[in-house]
Amino acid sequence: MAVNLLDLNLAQLETYVEGLGEKRFRARQLMRWIHLYGQDDFTQMSDLARSLREKLSLEAVVAPPRLLASHESDDGTRKWVLEVGAGNAIETVFIPEGDRGTLCVSSQVGCALACTFCSTGHQGFNRNLTTAEIIGQLWWANRALGRDPKGERVISNVVMMGMGEPLANLDNVDAALDIMLDDFGYGLSRRRVTLSTSGIVPALDRLRERHPVALAVSLHAPNDALRDQIVPINRKYPLAELLAACRRYLEAAPRDFVTFEYVMLQGVNDSPAHARELLALVADTPCKFNLIPFNPFPGSNYRRSRPEAIQAFRDVLMQAGYVVTVRRTRGDDIDAACGQLAGQVLDKSRRAERMAREAGR
Ligand code: SAH
Ligand code: SF4
Repeated sequence: MAVNLLDLNLAQLETYVEGLGEKRFRARQLMRWIHLYGQDDFTQMSDLARSLREKLSLEAVVAPPRLLASHESDDGTRKWVLEVGAGNAIETVFIPEGDRGTLCVSSQVGCALACTFCSTGHQGFNRNLTTAEIIGQLWWANRALGRDPKGERVISNVVMMGMGEPLANLDNVDAALDIMLDDFGYGLSRRRVTLSTSGIVPALDRLRERHPVALAVSLHAPNDALRDQIVPINRKYPLAELLAACRRYLEAAPRDFVTFEYVMLQGVNDSPAHARELLALVADTPCKFNLIPFNPFPGSNYRRSRPEAIQAFRDVLMQAGYVVTVRRTRGDDIDAACGQLAGQVLDKSRRAERMAREAGR
């Protein structure tokens, strides 16, 4: 079977071209053609020897996931829907903001961690994305967006905050990070790539050793009792362990704080008392807060906190000296907001079925 070169980081591409009897540096040229210029046709790679182009045409492919649809929102947000086989689809979102452009990348088809307020979690789990499917999201978006008039890449930041739990697919995410951070790939610095996790502690330690990119942790609750309910992975890795792992991570991280994400669910986790409890919880962990107004989706049982409640919660944190941002909801009109990414997941974990049964009891 043909090798999909989108699966290979630079080191693997070097091994591959050497295996073809070529010089190592050809790998860099190839990498640039594939990722920088978005070229998938070997015959167009004009600075490669014709003999190499012919070999590659016979043995290799540059095969991103098939593009099913793309949408553009009134606020400039863009979304691409990509087919990842067997009736499954994933979504990638681009959010322009001043001189920054952030691409939100998915790591799995569905998610097994089943946070109760998350659309992806409700859909159940199908499988991990391959490296080619993860990096293929950047490939499509970069091809569509290209460079701005100053010659800078339009995608200046990547957040692993799309569908799925990136630390549950660390091997493939790891290789994709290699390519994102490579000068011959997407040339992003570690500060400009943020991985968001609900807190798989051993995998967080591995990420620290291999690619300490900027870290966002989905906290969402100030104590174990509540977090056990809404972020079920907490039962395995409770808050004290998670926060200790965050502090270890910071020793290697490119930024000197963790961003704690906190989804605002009306009447569940959004009182000033919760905010004060949160302050006590994070006292030893350098952090910022990102409050995310809950985005409803069909079948969700929560309501978004009222703006006054979000403001009061924010004020408690700010008065204690913390930097707090409240996420603006973007791309709402194309279902591209946080937690609304749905794609199409053929649920192998039969979670949707189980939930329907439990709801009927
Ligand atoms: N699995 C990872 C990354 C993907 S989710 C994680 O959980 O961190 C990205 C962010 O969107 C997380 O903070 C998640 O809690 C949040 N989110 C999920 N569903 C949401 C919803 N319906 N409304 C608002 N934010 C949501
Ligand atoms: Fe998975 Fe993240 Fe959604 Fe939780 S919030 S179900 S970890 S994608």
